[in-house]
Amino acid sequence: MYQWGTKRRINSASNYLKNEFGTRIQKVTIDAGFTCPNRDGTLGTGGCTYCNNDAFNPSYCTPEKSISKQLKEGIEFHEKRYRSAGKYFAYFQAFSNTYGSLDYLKGIYRQALEDEKVIGLIVGTRPDCIDEYKLEYFASLSEKFYVVIEYGVESISNKTLRNINRQHSFERSLKALNLTREFGVKSGAHFIFGLPGESRQQMKDSVTTVSELPLHTVKFHQLQIVRGTRFEKEYNEDPGKFNLFTLDEYIEFMADYLSNLNPAIIIERLAGETQPRNIIGERWQLRYDQVLQRIERKMEELNLWQGKYYQNQPG
Ligand code: SF4
Repeated sequence: MYQWGTKRRINSASNYLKNEFGTRIQKVTIDAGFTCPNRDGTLGTGGCTYCNNDAFNPSYCTPEKSISKQLKEGIEFHEKRYRSAGKYFAYFQAFSNTYGSLDYLKGIYRQALEDEKVIGLIVGTRPDCIDEYKLEYFASLSEKFYVVIEYGVESISNKTLRNINRQHSFERSLKALNLTREFGVKSGAHFIFGLPGESRQQMKDSVTTVSELPLHTVKFHQLQIVRGTRFEKEYNEDPGKFNLFTLDEYIEFMADYLSNLNPAIIIERLAGETQPRNIIGERWQLRYDQVLQRIERKMEELNLWQGKYYQNQPG
């Protein structure tokens, strides 16, 4: 039976953090001005076919402002909104936030941790932008702070990864995740459902592999066609190539997927939430919390919970 209280059907990050820290934790998104090797010419210049980083940065967050200023403004924003002074994680979301020299990274993350309200870091990056030296540094920070390195894994299929121009393989992701575990640093992973060329069955079957990854947290997103991306162009040319999830289809899919997912993996997110004006094609008219509620309600209706059908793989 599930163990997350009567109201939750999933091992949710909000519950986990409340239990761990005894208070609500907010994330303040920081844009530290990193780029990524798939944009600066090292691996390519076009980027991943679905990516337009401008589409998901909050307004207070821009690399022209110092990290301390972004943090201060982000914290003020949350305090006004929630009327309580809680604790914060600095969330480095845009681009690849370990793409730089170790000294440069130290300078960035030192600034973020100077604020006494900041008790942790979430660092989004690519699996090919990490190494032993950086992990050793993050391991030392993990002794005092909550630190998660969130890798964009996106798919376990190399064919899909080639189609979306990720410029790394699933094996590269595996290597990064295993290395991160070896250093005792927490890992997160991001996956997208609905990428062209992947059948629903294939996505569903991926749960067996995902369940065995050394993950602390996971984020799942439905594919959205964001303006300003290569996918926008491809969608306008041939919408039939895409098989975007409708809201109802996604709710059913996620309820089933989660019932097979390792219950030890903490769920950070179950769907994407891009501003409707920034996307074309399938648009759901719900906020993220409403989508989440619908997924859990569906699980309740079907008497499902995360891990109900999960079976530990031998070896
Ligand atoms: S999704 Fe990440 S890796 Fe891909 S182009 Fe955008 S920032 Fe770079």
